[in-house]
Amino acid sequence: MKDSGNVLRTTLCRSCKSTFPKRIISLGPHPNVNSYIKKESFEKEEYYYPFDVYLCNKCGFLQLGHEINPKILFDDYVYVSSASPIFVSHSIDYAKRISERFALDSLSCYHCA
Ligand SMILES: [Zn+2]
Repeated sequence: MKDSGNVLRTTLCRSCKSTFPKRIISLGPHPNVNSYIKKESFEKEEYYYPFDVYLCNKCGFLQLGHEINPKILFDDYVYVSSASPIFVSHSIDYAKRISERFALDSLSCYHCA
């Protein structure tokens, strides 16, 4: 297991910019999602990143407590959710159900993934 050094600890809520309370759960270090290892890289050590979840006491936004350099995350990112018609259909249906259940209006913003 190796830390790439491309991780920053987040200290402000991404939604309301208030300071974080303490961490609520650590799911341990994880390799980059959808970062498939090429055959020629099998012998190289894989990088792992913190997967710690924080809850903002002010706005209730649940979020990770670290930011990984976007270049590391997306330079070789093979998954494109919009390429799956079934996933797009599910997301539209889910957003409609959430909007109805919580009586959200067109100005409300929520994120689920
Ligand atoms: Zn917040």
